[in-house]
Amino acid sequence: MEIDFLTLFPGMINALLGESIIARAAERGHIKLRAHQIRDFADNARKQVDDYPYGGGAGVLMQAEPLCRCLTHVTAAHGNGRVILLSPQGAVFTQGKAALLAAEGHIILICGHYEGVDERFTEECADEEISIGDYVLTGGEIAACVVADAVCRLIPGVLADESGFQDESFASGLLEYPQYTRPRLWRGRSVPDVLLSGDHAAILRWREEQALRRTSQRRPDLLPGSER
Ligand code: SAM
Repeated sequence: MEIDFLTLFPGMINALLGESIIARAAERGHIKLRAHQIRDFADNARKQVDDYPYGGGAGVLMQAEPLCRCLTHVTAAHGNGRVILLSPQGAVFTQGKAALLAAEGHIILICGHYEGVDERFTEECADEEISIGDYVLTGGEIAACVVADAVCRLIPGVLADESGFQDESFASGLLEYPQYTRPRLWRGRSVPDVLLSGDHAAILRWREEQALRRTSQRRPDLLPGSER
């Protein structure tokens, strides 16, 4: 899996993805992550890549041309990939979408900042827009890292143990059942007896029931037949 990030703040990407499981997967060659500085593609000495919006209004917008040049550089160097603009106006990101993007093999994530990007860049260059939820962030860097993290952990070899995938929240359409680790008794709260029973069929049944109960209580919208 290859992921290119176009950003004004490559340090944010490197800080978020340069540790722990994703960083180790990159070191082992399972994934390739590259953060590109859009400012390097400015056509002026001040490296300015933003300007005021036509028609007035608050803040500044990222200009289309430096973004487009940065994208051309990335595709020339690393090949074409699906171009995704992070945007609060995009389709909301889901586990299913993460799986589709993991199958793409190469994605290019465009991080907006300030008041966003010139609409003409989106029309000309982006294949789609993705939102990580119905709220507004200061920039697309954190959103891009959310997408990258969810995609990368689906790539074979990234996680040490992939056997848990099918039980995880959203994989089967339900939330995951509650989980416990040592000690058996903590502050007067004990682990459910069935998990200590060694009866694998009973444990499986309990987990299925718990997943269903938890989903009905917390996210009934995920259950089959519910209106989303
Ligand atoms: N003016 C824009 C609007 O009202 O739709 C919001 C711009 S936001 C302050 C700046 C950048 O942050 C966006 O261009 C986008 O890249 C990123 N961003 C903000 N919220 C996001 C979200 N929920 N999901 C994905 N990206 C987001």
